[in-house]
Amino acid sequence: MQQDLFIIFAIVWVGMAIGSYMLFQRGKDVERKRKLWPMYTIGSNVVVGAVIVYMQPPLYLMLALLALMVPVTVMTIRSTKFCDACGSPSRSPFFMKPPANCSHCQKPLK
Ligand SMILES: [Zn+2]
Repeated sequence: MQQDLFIIFAIVWVGMAIGSYMLFQRGKDVERKRKLWPMYTIGSNVVVGAVIVYMQPPLYLMLALLALMVPVTVMTIRSTKFCDACGSPSRSPFFMKPPANCSHCQKPLK
């Protein structure tokens, strides 16, 4: 039973990775990317959170990890920009300022 759950997590994870690649790397619709990015980021972090809960670490560790995930999720959303010119995502590490120029075509980002 427990193993089944882990396989479901793995499938969801792989599915989200493929979906994200198709949508955010290959897709051309910048507006849609901007709209879906926060939902995707929150969704994938909810999956990570569910895995943490499922692993049943000591309670204080679980709460600390889940509490840490909230600002990380918010900063990940904010540090990713989509280029108007080519539609490519530009990301900086979540603890740094958002990128100013497109990593793909070097045009300035809004
Ligand atoms: Zn670009």
